[in-house]
Amino acid sequence: MIDERLRRIFEDLTSIDATSGNEAPVAAYIKEFVERLGLEFDMDGAASLSKGNSGNVIIRIKGGGDHFLASHMDTPRSTKGLVRIFHEDRITSDGTTPLGVDDRGGLSSILYALEKAVAEDTIKPCTLLFTVCEETTLAGSTFFTPDPGIRYGFIFDSYMSPPAIVSETCGLLEFDFTFHGRSSHAGIAPEKGISAIQVACEAVTKFPYGKLGEKDTGNIGRISGGTATNVVCDSVKISGEIRSGNLEDGEKRFRKIVEDFEEVCKKHGATMEYRSAWDFTPYHIHPEDEPYRLFEKVVGAMGLKPVPMKSMGGSDANAMNKKGIKTINLGVGAQNPHGNDEFILYEDFTRAAAIAYGLMTTTLD
Ligand SMILES: [Zn+2]
Repeated sequence: MIDERLRRIFEDLTSIDATSGNEAPVAAYIKEFVERLGLEFDMDGAASLSKGNSGNVIIRIKGGGDHFLASHMDTPRSTKGLVRIFHEDRITSDGTTPLGVDDRGGLSSILYALEKAVAEDTIKPCTLLFTVCEETTLAGSTFFTPDPGIRYGFIFDSYMSPPAIVSETCGLLEFDFTFHGRSSHAGIAPEKGISAIQVACEAVTKFPYGKLGEKDTGNIGRISGGTATNVVCDSVKISGEIRSGNLEDGEKRFRKIVEDFEEVCKKHGATMEYRSAWDFTPYHIHPEDEPYRLFEKVVGAMGLKPVPMKSMGGSDANAMNKKGIKTINLGVGAQNPHGNDEFILYEDFTRAAAIAYGLMTTTLD
């Protein structure tokens, strides 16, 4: 079973359709919610980066404390027309839309815990952060500037069941290459042309696809070029990614790809240009780090132990760790994220809310 109040908050939040960039109605709900509790609502200027209709929502409790709890306000897909079904052990949609549990599950857990901690007068200084555009660009967490007192934090946004936590992730290096050949009539003067398609195809056979060692992966996900069948193609663009457990390995793999591709270009008399950027960078939180210790204390009081896991995906935690704020992504139990078969077990949901409560009402020492 699920607590009536938690269920109600989840129903309220999943009644709001708010995809990335359209978070304003979720922010309005939170504003009303926290002001009713006598707390101050604040919004930053993240909309300037996300180009959406809302900034990040920031609630500083008793000065803001040394840590934050966060979840994101956007859903990756529309939940318009959502029909929630409360089964014996879980909540699902009717299968025609996502449930929106990523990340309304995390959001509900935090708001439910907040209301309870304020009512019971057990709340300790901390900051609540509700971000925009997590699903698309991490624009909210990237833009967010933590107050100087904030040292660590918790993101409520993993599909795993609590008390599992993402203590370690890969980083994601995105790239594209454009191969330049020379166009010519394919029938009259093919020898004058240099086919960018031929060059690109040979280049991609040198690419390291799939699982690379223990921590890394590689993929080319898009290829485009050419104009007509009677023209030797002069330009092809490919885009892909490398995921890597550490920055150096990722950079090294990318340099090797550039070298291999350059060699192919040279062989055919073609040229190329390329661009690469880290979409998110890796992090690793250790048991002696503050967020791990506070989490351990909170779940310890519930008779549980943290279950640290590695992840090959990114979240707001990556952007926060990049700023030097040690941050863990916590399991909420929002399973099958982004599909129409999203669901959450009452057991996980209840536990996630209890963990949120613990993280607001417990101090490290
Ligand atoms: Zn999410």
